[in-house]
Amino acid sequence: MELIEMTLDVMKYAIGRISATEHQIGKPKKAEELKAIVGETVTAKGVGGEYAFNLWKEHLSKANVPVDHPRNLAFVPASPTRAAIMFDLVTSASSIHGAYWMEGAGGIFCENEAMSWIVSLTGLPAGAFGVFTSGGTAANLSAIVTAREFWRRDDTYKREKGLIITSIGAHSSIKAMAKVADVDILLVDTEERLTGSDLRNTIEGLNFHQRKRLFAVVATGGTTNAGIIDDLEGIADICEQENLWFHVDAAYGGGALAADSVRHLFNGIERADSITIDPHKWMFSPYDCGAVIYKEPELAKEAHSQQGSYLDIFKDEGAHGFNPTDYQIQLTRRVRGLPLWFSLATHGTDRYKQSVERGLELAQLAGKMIEENPNVELVREPSLSCVLYRRIGWKPEDYTNWTYENHKKGFALVTPTKWKNGDTFETVSRFCFINPDTTENDIQMILESMN
Ligand SMILES: *Cc1c(COP(=O)(O)O)cnc(C)c1O
Repeated sequence: MELIEMTLDVMKYAIGRISATEHQIGKPKKAEELKAIVGETVTAKGVGGEYAFNLWKEHLSKANVPVDHPRNLAFVPASPTRAAIMFDLVTSASSIHGAYWMEGAGGIFCENEAMSWIVSLTGLPAGAFGVFTSGGTAANLSAIVTAREFWRRDDTYKREKGLIITSIGAHSSIKAMAKVADVDILLVDTEERLTGSDLRNTIEGLNFHQRKRLFAVVATGGTTNAGIIDDLEGIADICEQENLWFHVDAAYGGGALAADSVRHLFNGIERADSITIDPHKWMFSPYDCGAVIYKEPELAKEAHSQQGSYLDIFKDEGAHGFNPTDYQIQLTRRVRGLPLWFSLATHGTDRYKQSVERGLELAQLAGKMIEENPNVELVREPSLSCVLYRRIGWKPEDYTNWTYENHKKGFALVTPTKWKNGDTFETVSRFCFINPDTTENDIQMILESMN
């Protein structure tokens, strides 16, 4: 009885959470404050599910900021579909080990159906395929390691420390993961679109040893800060001429590959060696769900396939199939692409197209409202679903105070960012639209709160 009641309680909570149209934007409390409210919860005898669940509902859940709130336009928000959230519950309930086909064939099959659609959006040639990861960071790391191992196939480079080129517009995870892979990184000093000729000039400026160590270029398909898509065609040309691995980080922007109105901006992505796309950003998946895609998945397998006597069984004839563990850094894994598969199967890919187009449209609408409002002005034209704008006369601390004020009221979360203006970094305000349920009125109210 207790089990059934608890299950129903959890279902009721989940249904309530995903069907509510208006909920508060929660805010963090200090750990000591939370402790004072809930007391000891992990004890020798346990406090009981009902009691713990009540603490969650009453207090702890409210110390989180729901990313899917229509007026949460900070960082890169998310907006998982109800179908995907429901199937996240099914994924958990099914206890599937998603590393090897032998154990997870049904789940991995579904993941691969979803992956085939994502790969088709990229236009990569036949044979290209990918795997779902915990996020863009893990996807970028998996790709960098694959590229480096491929480069080091040649004995000339066995003892060289690798070097990659990207721009300052690249996501922080590229720098962080280069560190993990012990690879040096050279940043082209532009937050605007990185072009083939920028890359050409940078390579020409390298000394002999640097050029020897250079093995990959990371372009961004939608910068996190401003939605800028690098010149993928021009960069692909140089990478081909120079025999360099071409990685495109489209963790945020990748969803826009589904949108006919902007697809042409990504031309050249079909020539990449590897691509990162985060379904948990603009493909309406719950956390966590990233993806790394390879033109030649065999190269990823060479880099990532794990060996161990306890793993030999998975290489047997009877277990043959796609083993996700072979293509990224993780062994044991949740079949985290399963919720996306169910949502795609439920709604069809046209709905995905429309929902991404709505995000793009909201950015354009916000741009117009900003132009019509005498208090604010655009820093640059909206790009993908990012809008950078300034409140005329505001200092950095005004943006910060305004952010906290709106957050405190539970009204909106819009955070400031910096934009490089000549040699200085200017603090400005930024919208990033993902949730198709955000309305024009939401945007208007946020702009008015700057008066
Ligand atoms: C968000 C983002 C990442 C990091 O992805 P996580 O899923 O947060 O690990 C990497 N690159 C870009 C361009 C991003 O926008």
